[in-house]
Amino acid sequence: MYNERFDKENFKKDVNHNVRTLFRKTIDEATPQQIFQAVSYAVKEAIIDDWLTTQKTYEKEDPKTVYYMSMEFLMGRALGNNLINMTAYNGVKEALDEMGIDLNVIEDEEPDAALGNGGLGRLAACFLDSLASLGYPAYGCGIRYRYGMFKQKIENGYQVETPDNWLKEGNPFELRREEYAKEVRFGGDIRFEKDPKTGKEVFIQENYESVLAIPYDMPIVGYGNHVVNTLRIWDAKAITDFQLDSFDRGDYHKAVEQENLAKNIVEVLYPNDNHYAGKELRLKQQYFFISASLQAMLAKYKKSHDDVRKLYEKVTIQMNDTHPTVSVPELMRLLIDQEGLTWEEAWDVTTKTCAYTNHTIMAEALEKWPIDLFSKLLPRVYQIVQEIDRRFVEEVKAKYPGDQNKIAKMAILYDGQVKMAHMAIIAGYSVNGVARLHTEILKKQQLKDFYEMMPEKFNNKTNGITQRRFLMHANPLLADWVTGHIGDGWITDLSQMAKLKPLVNDEQARREFMQIKYKNKERLAAYILKHNGVEINPRSIFDVQVKRLHEYKRQLLNILHVMYLYNQIKEHPEMEFYPRTFIFGAKAAAGYKRAKQTIKLINSVADVINNDRSINAKIKVVFIEDYRVSNAELIFAAADVSEQISTASKEASGTGNMKFMLNGAPTLGTMDGANVEIVEEVGIENAFIFGMSSDEVISYENNGGYNPTEIYFNDWDIKRVVDQLMDGTYSNGDHSMYKDLYDSLLNTNCTDRADTYFILKDFRSYADAQKRVEAAYRDEQGWAKMALMNTASCGKFTSDRTIKEYVDNIWKLDHVTVSPAEEN
Ligand SMILES: *Cc1c(COP(=O)(O)O)cnc(C)c1O
Repeated sequence: MYNERFDKENFKKDVNHNVRTLFRKTIDEATPQQIFQAVSYAVKEAIIDDWLTTQKTYEKEDPKTVYYMSMEFLMGRALGNNLINMTAYNGVKEALDEMGIDLNVIEDEEPDAALGNGGLGRLAACFLDSLASLGYPAYGCGIRYRYGMFKQKIENGYQVETPDNWLKEGNPFELRREEYAKEVRFGGDIRFEKDPKTGKEVFIQENYESVLAIPYDMPIVGYGNHVVNTLRIWDAKAITDFQLDSFDRGDYHKAVEQENLAKNIVEVLYPNDNHYAGKELRLKQQYFFISASLQAMLAKYKKSHDDVRKLYEKVTIQMNDTHPTVSVPELMRLLIDQEGLTWEEAWDVTTKTCAYTNHTIMAEALEKWPIDLFSKLLPRVYQIVQEIDRRFVEEVKAKYPGDQNKIAKMAILYDGQVKMAHMAIIAGYSVNGVARLHTEILKKQQLKDFYEMMPEKFNNKTNGITQRRFLMHANPLLADWVTGHIGDGWITDLSQMAKLKPLVNDEQARREFMQIKYKNKERLAAYILKHNGVEINPRSIFDVQVKRLHEYKRQLLNILHVMYLYNQIKEHPEMEFYPRTFIFGAKAAAGYKRAKQTIKLINSVADVINNDRSINAKIKVVFIEDYRVSNAELIFAAADVSEQISTASKEASGTGNMKFMLNGAPTLGTMDGANVEIVEEVGIENAFIFGMSSDEVISYENNGGYNPTEIYFNDWDIKRVVDQLMDGTYSNGDHSMYKDLYDSLLNTNCTDRADTYFILKDFRSYADAQKRVEAAYRDEQGWAKMALMNTASCGKFTSDRTIKEYVDNIWKLDHVTVSPAEEN
């Protein structure tokens, strides 16, 4: 952004000045945290000009804008990323060097903005980066949780959750915008009157509770183009006495309740990934940020347009999963009750404005709010949902006369529940899946009835990741090497990575590529030594599975296989075995028992194996504490093998798989999610594919499952590792520690089916693929070719490509060019 006018001396002056005014200290006296603050304020200062210019440009050109609605934005750290996108990273690094300050140390002082669980929240963050970098007007809309994703501590092998007080030292990059505060109302009763003048029905909400939503804006800096978009996250404040209706003033009870509502609503991110918990507070969070965001959006639109019936020409709303689906009835409410549109007019606008992204086929993730909860909390919104449902059911009846079953399967209101996915599909003008396979499964299975009725809405947008964070920032050695060979065009056009393909046959290039991998492995080894106290060998194969802990992702398959290998080595000490370091990182939802037992199992297996001198360090197992965006960046850069082993059909896309590929780690995986497209790009000979196909899995599921006991009794290696869950090997003799895991595989005690994720069924095929990995790694030149081919073939998986597809096929945004602000 300002490399052409980045003034080192001025920047140094700014930092010195900030340390003095913020902390009344000189640079030498300041702590690293204080220097981080001082540097960040200097950087924000530098961003502000372009931020203002961008907003001015938007006002002048009036382009169509996307509002990306998401309960989660997993941003990670801002400082390094902002510097990269301002093209000022190296300049600032030099300036700080001259002051005796190490930028990397300063970056480590920044807490991650962990306002998300995993892939879904990180996708939102990558999309904002791509939108700004491509020059498209966009707002991210979300919640400013006081506590983000919990911090994970491992104590005695168990996960312990502690609060993530990420705002403790203040957030230098945010801007509080008190002047744009909006009121959001909950509960109460609805009364309607006829307006004596117009004869229209007017809805009056009474006896409600309300909170004031206060926006905080964070700059989203585009790469080298002076575009700065906005992530707007909402905080809640109690309505003060003075703001209350005269009727309510002096109502002490109400005042206290509203204080509590405001405090609770933005208190904490729900730590569930792919799981619906049905908590009332969660619905309050959803309505809170949606109502506030839509009110602000409408107010902004009306400043320069007088006909809200044309809103869709300038605004589009993308709903990231069903979490923001209350956008549909809330927009209807604002258009009808506040703007005076008729139902038909409002429905026309809403159904041309809202679009929906589906992120999962897992039944337990589907949001279905109990009607009594929903209607009590959002009485007017519920009336609108009823009317949307009534009209839709009429359509279904007209199309499928007498087919009661269709109504049961497609209605929004059924069985005492509000089905959010149905509402999103019915009102949305676009319904997209997140990888080709996922979209096909949606059309053929989960959403078949909707697809048959409205096929034109369905489309695929394969996910992507931003190379600015996950290569340029995460892996500077490789980024510089790539630029040295093909120039820096890849930074904004990842398809150019294909130019690296000829280097696969260049021995010198392969050696350099693997040397960079080695250096990154040393960097991760140092991190692991510091944080885990475990010494690992950077010459061993770094075999990595990092992602949320979930049964469908099958960390259990991975660790059972480690137990199996250990058994093999103990039994056949003479066996050839290439040293391997199995690296895990994962948070489990706080109430997810089997997931937490899996973490304990991994740590216990690590304890036993890492301390067994007899196996000569052939296997090491490491569980990296508190997996999050900042340490993920170190991990991807250092990985040799990318474990993407979900039960086929269950992982909608995955994006971790793409980050590994970008950094030169071949995929060991099932034909699931985006793995299918990764294999298509890189060639099956440059991946290690195993396991059941999604068709096989779905066919078993539609026919009552399978019987794992047959495998258990006929494969003695498998029986042995499963029995080791119960015989005390990994639990100091405790026979019940892993009972839930054991039962989940063999169903000796549960009500659900056995091994629903086909772990035993895929075990042999996985073990075989792992053997192929080892053989391939022994061939040093062959491995270098494969790794380099992965980096060279990753072009498709940039979120820039994904965003272009959203823009061209769904949103139809106008492109904007921002000229740099005049220096003053
Ligand atoms: C990319 C990313 C994810 C998503 O990983 P998957 O393997 O696709 O589930 C989760 N958490 C973090 C911190 C990430 O960076």
